Amino acid sequence: MSAPAGEERQGRSVLVTGGNRGIGLAIAKAFLANGDKVAVTYRSPSELPDGILGVVADVTDAASIDAAFTEVEAAHGPVEVLVANAGITKDTLLLRMSEDDFTSVVDTNLTGAFRVIKRASKGMIRLRKGRVVLISSVVGLYGSPGQINYAASKAGLVGIARSLTRELGSRGITANVVAPGFISTDMTAELPEETQKQYLSSIPANRFASAEEVANVVRWVASDEAAYISGAVIPVDGGLGMGH
Ligand code: NDP
Repeated sequence: MSAPAGEERQGRSVLVTGGNRGIGLAIAKAFLANGDKVAVTYRSPSELPDGILGVVADVTDAASIDAAFTEVEAAHGPVEVLVANAGITKDTLLLRMSEDDFTSVVDTNLTGAFRVIKRASKGMIRLRKGRVVLISSVVGLYGSPGQINYAASKAGLVGIARSLTRELGSRGITANVVAPGFISTDMTAELPEETQKQYLSSIPANRFASAEEVANVVRWVASDEAAYISGAVIPVDGGLGMGH
């Protein structure tokens, strides 16, 4: 039976990929504050807040993902909430973009999400419940010069969420995309000041967002209150991508 409206079920096994910093860490903290059992993956050991379990995994490597899930399952039980957050950029204009620039970004952002979802789905099917949240980007559907690789990978996540919804929607499993706009993290700190100014001028909210603003939406879409939302693309972008 689902929890009454306004009250979230606690103690779920939650796994966030790339949860050692940036948006992923903010998401992990939001679930922890909700009373869930939270694990994050990282590539190289990082300091994590008390109460968050860190497991080593590289999303480009299925064997390391399998080992990480096995560790999380032993500590917290089968993963009920999966947040596919790990992502990279390798920005450059099309004519300068090598095939490796393209395939390595797709391998991490898109195929990486496929790998973790595939591994998580076994447990969710057995549980007959689950929440998959894919962290995409406004750029996936809006487009961005110099980001053909990244935009393609992020648009692909929409196809995954919607196909997953059609495959597993009857098993109590939802799959949604959260599409952040410009969030202040290490990833955006790398952008030239001029690019940051250009973005700011096109954001109706006239500001960048914090990672916590994304995390709160992810926590909610994974809650019982959002049980009837699946295959949705939820923007957290201050209006930047309106009309996607
Ligand atoms: P950061 O660069 O701060 O963090 C990226 C995270 O992904 C790190 O934890 C990193 O781990 C992990 N990661 C990268 N590659 C791999 C890999 N092969 N295997 C496992 N983990 C990996 O990024 P943000 O927090 O800014 O971004 C998080 C997500 O949000 C990304 O998917 C990004 O595309 C998306 N996003 C970000 C926006 C922004 O404005 N910041 C806007 C829209 C979307 P490690 O520490 O080991 O490198």
